[in-house]
Amino acid sequence: MAELRFSALREVFNRKPVHVDVPSGNVSDYFGENVFDLAKMERYISKEAYKAVKRAIDESKSLSRQEADLVATGIKVWALEKGATHYSHWFHPLTDGTAEKHDGFIEYAEHGYMVEKFSGEVLVQSEPDASSFPSGGIRNTFEARGYTAWDVSSPVFIVGKTLCIPTIFVSYTGFALDYKAPLLKSLAELDRAAVDICRYFDRDVTRVIATLGIEQEYFLIDEALYYARPDIVMANRTMMGHQSSKDQQLSDHYFGSIPERVMNFMQDFEHEACKLGIPVKTRHNETAPNQFECAPLYEEVNLAIDHNQLLMDIMKRIARRHKFRVLFHEKPFAGINGSGKHNNWSMATNTGVNLLSPGKTPKSNLQFLSFLVNVIKAVNDNNDILRASVMNESNSYRLGDHEAPPAIISVFVGSYLTDILNNIASKVSNRKMTPNQKTELKLGIGKIPEILLDNTDRNRTSPFAFTGNRFEFRAVGASANCSAAMIVINAAVAAQLRQFKKDIDAIMKKGRNKDEAIFKVLKKYIVESGRILFEGDGYSKEWHEEAARRGLCNIKSVPESIERYLEPNSRKVLVQPGIFTDKELEGRVEVEYEKFTKKIQIEARVLGDLAINHIVPTAVTYMTTLIDNVKGLREIFSDKEYKNLAEARRDVIIVISDHISSIKKLVYDMIEERKKANVIDDSYKKALEYESRVKPYLNEIRYHIDKLELIVDNEIWPLPKYRELLFTC
Ligand code: ADP
Ligand code: MG
Repeated sequence: MAELRFSALREVFNRKPVHVDVPSGNVSDYFGENVFDLAKMERYISKEAYKAVKRAIDESKSLSRQEADLVATGIKVWALEKGATHYSHWFHPLTDGTAEKHDGFIEYAEHGYMVEKFSGEVLVQSEPDASSFPSGGIRNTFEARGYTAWDVSSPVFIVGKTLCIPTIFVSYTGFALDYKAPLLKSLAELDRAAVDICRYFDRDVTRVIATLGIEQEYFLIDEALYYARPDIVMANRTMMGHQSSKDQQLSDHYFGSIPERVMNFMQDFEHEACKLGIPVKTRHNETAPNQFECAPLYEEVNLAIDHNQLLMDIMKRIARRHKFRVLFHEKPFAGINGSGKHNNWSMATNTGVNLLSPGKTPKSNLQFLSFLVNVIKAVNDNNDILRASVMNESNSYRLGDHEAPPAIISVFVGSYLTDILNNIASKVSNRKMTPNQKTELKLGIGKIPEILLDNTDRNRTSPFAFTGNRFEFRAVGASANCSAAMIVINAAVAAQLRQFKKDIDAIMKKGRNKDEAIFKVLKKYIVESGRILFEGDGYSKEWHEEAARRGLCNIKSVPESIERYLEPNSRKVLVQPGIFTDKELEGRVEVEYEKFTKKIQIEARVLGDLAINHIVPTAVTYMTTLIDNVKGLREIFSDKEYKNLAEARRDVIIVISDHISSIKKLVYDMIEERKKANVIDDSYKKALEYESRVKPYLNEIRYHIDKLELIVDNEIWPLPKYRELLFTC
């Protein structure tokens, strides 16, 4: 029974690092070589077509049919030169991954010859069958077609021999079925709202671009061990396994020297990533054993997300070359750190200013503070949908557990900025401000830059932390598509900035000047969002109590978190500006409920199977050995000696037997609960039932299995143990 485990371990011990074939030159020599970027466009398409694309990108417009044809011709020449044989619209359906359907370039020419063709029509639009993608009931069953349309702001690229075209994905009737379509709308909305505010400070600002740098955490495990763990294969996480005696207690993995096999893997996937224009920059060992991180340079949000999705894909692919498997699950191993995807987010203007970076003058700092305070206020007013955007089945094991951001959304800005905000709140009065007061306030904020850089103390326990020139949203799960979180942040901040403008203009109408109006509104916001600011330890029990006193929600239930998307306030932020329609939002919520239920269902099945077919028989085998042993003792020892010896052995047999009985009973009870939940029609209620009645069994069953792992003979234990999974890279 344990044969698979031991043969896997033998395989691991004999592994040699895989040679990596990375060119010896500089990274910049091959960076982006598989991307049809603007530089290549200049070479491959006409000036007119180039201008059209540039305009389409800058003004978020689409291309005319004629322009698309010109661009497609250039793309075809380039792609064929690079050996591509197929093209594919590449999109982000509401699953955790990306989707692609490849079509060859070949077509019949007039006399039946084969030629390579690629027209503007297939570049900009395609009609994949949408019927098997999650839609939450939006897509009409009689109309299975969906449309994909090129997102001109994200350049086409080649993976292997396939030309990939980043697209949005909508239903025949125009409903978004993906993450990208609403993401682009949220970015456009934020752009418009933020430009209006910037123009109080600088009339040259015409565009605001949201920026995003995604730190990606992940685990690696050896391929042979992966195959010996059906729970990882099926559910991407271990559903059993006693904690290893040593794991991360000594913090000796974090920033440690990178093992050779892992280093080769990193160089290999980074090389692939760079060829695809993904600016991967940082790599290091993370806190838990076998846990690592990769972070690229930040980019425009839409591109950063495309790149992150692509990066995960590349990592999975290249890992196989190195006999690894990458785990992006948020909590692959109980009891040690899980993996997140820290979203470093900010906004930049076309004039080159980072709006969340303190400036050099009082004026630019007033702009900085305006954006800072509005983001804080947006998080305060929308913490429900922020939580909803990151909550899902796999992240629920991480949030609030073992050094992961809690399910309470709070904001950290550091003590220095807190003082500045408090100062504004106390100095700005409701009466008309005197010139002296204004000067004093401006002098106060004029000093921010130097001091701030030294004072952005790093609070690692905050889910939403200001880190000197950006916010870092840390609650996003490692396997997630960041779009869900980014849509909410963009939309919430956009809605808040629109309100800001209204509030300022209302005061200015009363004859007050602009600066005074801004100060007054900022004061109001600072006071109103005081409860969201928290500087202490977000992991502590005290914070949970304090947060409750402040009226901050701590919703641990996944379906309940998701349901908040449908509150009137959420709709105001997401539906009113047209980022979603009501129906699209409801469809998405539906998809999330279903995903949750199905994932628990899969886990419950996997665990039930492993418990009954792997663990129980192993425990019975060991119990039988002990029973035989007791019988044997009778033959050798006198009655009195035998009695003492047998009693001790009997106790162990009883313990094992009790665990076996408990496991069996729990598995059958769990199946019964599933049956009951499965007949519920309403997907919200069903998800709630799965959460409250099925999910708890997973831990209960695991408890008994993990106890057995400590008792049963190591020689017959069928599944690789934590110490083997975590220390063999
Ligand atoms: P940490 O110290 O938080 O682990 P990392 O170096 O791992 O930091 O990652 C920080 C990320 O933040 C990088 O992707 C970086 O490019 C990004 N970043 C820096 N400035 C900005 C900005 N203005 N907007 C968005 N992201 C940014
Ligand atoms: Mg980092």
